Amino acid sequence: MDVQYMYINGEWVASSSGNVREIINPATEEVIAKVAEGTVEDAKTAIQAAHKAFYEDGWGETYARYRAELLAKVADQLEKEIDAFARLETLNNGKPLRESSYDIADAVNQFRYYAGLATKPSGQVYDVPDDIQAYVVREPLGVAGQIVPWNYPLVMAVQKLAPALAAGCTVVIKPAEQTPLSLIKLFEIIDEAGFPPGVVNLLLGAGETVGAELARNPLVDKIAFTGGTVTGKKIMKSAADTLKNISLELGGKSPNIVFEDADFETAVDYALYAIFANQGQVCSAGSRLILQETLYDRFVPELVKRANEIVVGNGLDPTTEMGPLISKEHMEKVINYIAIGKEEGAELLCGGDRLFEKGFFIAPTIFSHTNPDMRIVKEEIFGPVLVIQTFKDEEDAIKLANDSQYGLAGAVFTSDGAKAQRVIRKLRAGITWINTYHPTFNEAPWGGYKQSGIGRELGTFGFEAYQEVKQVNINLNVQPSGWFKRK
Ligand code: NAD
Repeated sequence: MDVQYMYINGEWVASSSGNVREIINPATEEVIAKVAEGTVEDAKTAIQAAHKAFYEDGWGETYARYRAELLAKVADQLEKEIDAFARLETLNNGKPLRESSYDIADAVNQFRYYAGLATKPSGQVYDVPDDIQAYVVREPLGVAGQIVPWNYPLVMAVQKLAPALAAGCTVVIKPAEQTPLSLIKLFEIIDEAGFPPGVVNLLLGAGETVGAELARNPLVDKIAFTGGTVTGKKIMKSAADTLKNISLELGGKSPNIVFEDADFETAVDYALYAIFANQGQVCSAGSRLILQETLYDRFVPELVKRANEIVVGNGLDPTTEMGPLISKEHMEKVINYIAIGKEEGAELLCGGDRLFEKGFFIAPTIFSHTNPDMRIVKEEIFGPVLVIQTFKDEEDAIKLANDSQYGLAGAVFTSDGAKAQRVIRKLRAGITWINTYHPTFNEAPWGGYKQSGIGRELGTFGFEAYQEVKQVNINLNVQPSGWFKRK
């Protein structure tokens, strides 16, 4: 099995240590690839290459039209290879093929969206006194370090890469150690597209070594991170030493509020989709079902019945609806949370067990009779585990929904339009839905309130996250100010 390399300064390179990491298929536990395990020294080399490409070789001064053409080329080639990329994503991450196919198509759209945005008008002009013409231009921020998690390996990478490159930044990107394969394959396309050396660099390796170097290195101007809240805090502390610009997309424990007047079938259907899509390994998962107590006896049996019917299996099988968790370590963490839930006195309604001999599968799991102080209610489990909380009235529902350190997402299901909007207004979360769950689009900003993060990705917000703002003041009446008198 050939070792797959990093891509630094326009070249495919092995780790300076010669070390290699085995990549596992979480559905079969088989080794499917070997990849270079980068070192801090490799990280420094990649950062220096990106620094030179930006500050000496002029990537930031290239025409937007040129950058747009390169991104469009990448989009076109990725689109041609959607099926191969989707298969690879499923092999490496485990998610069902229908989800991988959607993800890769989404990544194609992200490249196209930012190729388009690169050439659109920007800046502002101000009407100010004193014969000054004032305006603002946006300029690329410089060298961007980007750190990506394993739950959406390609989409999370591209939603950082595409806006950074469109804005004129140079990039060093690091996938999660478990899921580098689709990003390595994307770099074959990037290599073919003809980016100048050092503009886009792929760094492989552990978070604590190469990831930490990206957050710490003074030559990195911006750090963009998606991952766990604990890691995000470490990165923020480390980035503070050089006051880097920072974007953090972190965890969540998002409420899905269902009122008794909701369309029943729709609400049950989305309650399942909200938590069990991608095996619950979704930062914005609807992991807390906040259910009006009058609906409990009708809603919960139907929910449990439908959860038990979900087809769990290898994501490559077209009949599979839910795949394995990402790793043995993560599966054990989720199983531990299920044990904690039982110990805390919550009632296990379904699931709770590991499935099959091989692979990291857990059955769709639902707990009821919870209280807000339980760890399974407060902490992000990041697996197929739903907790049910019940409420009496609207005020009670909002209170429960906002009772969290997180504020990433949230939804409300009701047939009362005014009530829906009242609830959404009060929800302290960055991504919200009425009578649906999960649909979000590359055009709109993605990110959280509270400890779910800082800043926004995607849309114009995600583009501005890679730009500096410069004001320019032009004197229209060129003569001395006379502030200090000529003596
Ligand atoms: P993680 O924080 O363990 O790892 C994420 C990335 O950070 C990986 O690439 C890892 O190598 C790197 N990393 C780890 N320690 C580091 C360090 N000390 N310095 C620098 N980099 C380091 O998270 P994970 O387990 O891979 O992903 C799951 C988490 O990501 C969940 O909490 C989930 O909610 C969150 N997430 C958030 C969003 C969002 O948009 N808000 C999206 C996806 C996932």
